[in-house]
Formats: sequence, C-alpha cells, structure tokens
Amino acid sequence: MLDRASKTFFHLLAHSAVLKRLASRYGMRKPTSFARRFIAGETVGEAVAAARAIEARGLTQTLDHLGESVANLAAADAATREYLDIIDAVIQAGIGRNISLKLTQLGLHVDKASAVDNLRKVLDRAEPARFFVRLDMENSPYTDVTLEIFETLWQHGYREMGVVLQSALYRSEEDLKRITALGARIRLVKGAYQEPKSVAYQKKEDVDAAYARMVKVLITDGHYPAIATHDPAMVALARARAAERGVAPERFEFQMLYGIRRDLQARLVRDGYRVRVYVPFGREWFPYFMRRLGERPSNVAFVLRGITSETG
Ligand SMILES: Cc1cc2nc3c(=O)[nH]c(=O)nc-3n(C[C@H](O)[C@H](O)[C@H](O)COP(=O)(O)OP(=O)(O)OC[C@H]3O[C@@H](n4cnc5c(N)ncnc54)[C@H](O)[C@@H]3O)c2cc1C
Repeated sequence: MLDRASKTFFHLLAHSAVLKRLASRYGMRKPTSFARRFIAGETVGEAVAAARAIEARGLTQTLDHLGESVANLAAADAATREYLDIIDAVIQAGIGRNISLKLTQLGLHVDKASAVDNLRKVLDRAEPARFFVRLDMENSPYTDVTLEIFETLWQHGYREMGVVLQSALYRSEEDLKRITALGARIRLVKGAYQEPKSVAYQKKEDVDAAYARMVKVLITDGHYPAIATHDPAMVALARARAAERGVAPERFEFQMLYGIRRDLQARLVRDGYRVRVYVPFGREWFPYFMRRLGERPSNVAFVLRGITSETG
C-alpha cells in the first residue's frame, strides 16, 4: 500500500514545473550534485566516460538518452537525429554497442507512422554495425502499440532489437510466450509506472510473484534474456534456476540501473555473471529521476541533503 502511495505521490510531483525548475538548477550543477547519483551526465561525452568506467569494472552498459513524450513531430525528428549521432559516437568511442530508447521520444503519441519511420532510421543505422537497440516499455496505454511495432519490424527482418515486459501487467505472461516464440530478446522488469487495477497487479507481492514465474520461463526458454532487477531474491532465483537447469551464465544477463546496488552488480561479476548497467544521460532527466525516488523514498533524504548542501 505504501509502495503504491509513494509511486503515486512521485508521479504527481514529476509533473510539477516548480520542482522541475529547482531540480534542474541544482541537480547536475557540480560533479557532486544529487542527481548525478542516478544520471551519468547531460552530454554524450559524459555518458561515454561513464560507460568506459563501467566497462573497466567488468560490466557492460546500455546508454539511454533521456527524454519521453515529445510535444510534436519536429521534436521527434530532433530526438531521432540525436540517437543517430549517439550511435555514431558510441561506435567511434569503441565502447559496447547498445542503446535503450522510448517510442514516445520518437513521436509515438503524436503520430504512430512517423514514430515507426524514426525507429527504422535508428535501426537502419544500428543493424549493419551490430548495434543493439532496446525498446523500453512505457506506461500501459503504450504496451500494445509498442509490442505491435516491435513484432512488425521483427517480421520485416530487423534482429538487433529487443523489447521489455513488465511483470506488473496481467498480460505480460502471455506476451512473454509470443515474443519468446519469435526468438526475440526480452528484458524483464517489474514495471516503473503507476497503473490501474484493470490492467496491473496492485500489491507488490503479486508483482514479485509474477516476476518470479516469468524469470523461471525466461531462464530456460528465453533468447539471451535480461533479468533487470535490483531485488536480491529475484537475482537468487534466476541463479538457482539456471544452475538447476544447466543454463550457462553466458546465456542470460542481469541488468541494473546506474547508481543502484553497485555492490550487487560487482558481486555478480565476481561470481562470473554478466551484468549490464543502464546508463541514463541527457538534459531531460527529471521524470526518470522522480521514478527512481518513487521506488525508494529513502532516496529523498539523500536528495534533500544534496539540495541543502548545494544551496547552503
Ligand atoms: C536495466 C533496467 C531497465 C529498466 N527498464 C524499464 C522499462 O523499460 N520500463 C519500466 O517500466 N521499468 C523499467 N525498469 C524499472 C523497473 O520496472 C523497476 O521499477 C525498478 O527496477 C525497481 O524494481 P526492482 O526490480 O529493482 O525491485 P524492487 O522490489 O522495487 O526493489 C528491490 C531492491 O532494489 C533496490 N532498489 C530498487 N529501486 C531502487 C532505487 N530507485 N533506489 C535505490 N535502491 C533501489 C532496493 O534495495 C530494493 O529493496 C528498468 C529497470 C532496470 C534495472
């Protein structure tokens, strides 16, 4: 209940213009500013530097240029061009070739056909370079259309792309079967959005139980699945399932967010598992940042300490 209330509260705050202005002023100003705990920086250069540091520790990474729900097609075009530049910059830097993006960033809620065109441009640049593109999953109004676009482009022969399923949604176990049958790569998450009970489990224990069921299927039947969670119980379950079924550690990966449970990330690498860190960067970091606070309200104390030390 508290989980749900805090998620709702932070999702509401995410729409506050005043808070956004305040946070933008202080959050990334200095190397020690509070938002830098979760955001790698505002520029591609900072993201590449963070990626290099991650790879030096034996982990891999996926870069996410922050931004969602652009206001018009011109902004969607601009976001697409930025993604093309990021792909070029990553190739040039010689770091791992993997990005994550949101379809509303490419204009999905303005015009679906334009978003598909934009995604094709990104994939056409990425595919020949064996550069992997993950379509992040947004809130439930976009689930169907995201999967539909993914499945259509898969049928058109694009292979360097994967999708995300959220265990919070009732539908996801069925989606998992269908996407697995295609042979596509799935990232499994619990789900970061506040969803109504018509489509999603409301109790954390139900979301966790669904996650556990889906992990079991993915470890044995998935195609290089990504178990994306910081939950030690789910990580232990994935490890146990793989060991029990003789699935080698190279056949799947764990994924965690930049700045979260770095201890667990390092331990898994030491134990011989693959761990990919999701590295968000860019100027539009506020909604992402607020979702992270909503997941763990104790992060707020950390932020408040940061703000008082910055302004004081
Ligand atoms: C790589 C990656 C990609 C993701 N992509 C998507 C996506 O496309 N769509 C989507 O809806 N969601 C996405 N998410 C977010 C996900 O849905 C969850 O909201 C988030 O991962 C928290 O759930 P959890 O599985 O870590 O478990 P929880 O049960 O929420 O947390 C387990 C433990 O992890 C730690 N923890 C979790 N969150 C935080 C935090 N913010 N700060 C500090 N500690 C924390 C705490 O120790 C907590 O006890 C992604 C998550 C990851 C790791």
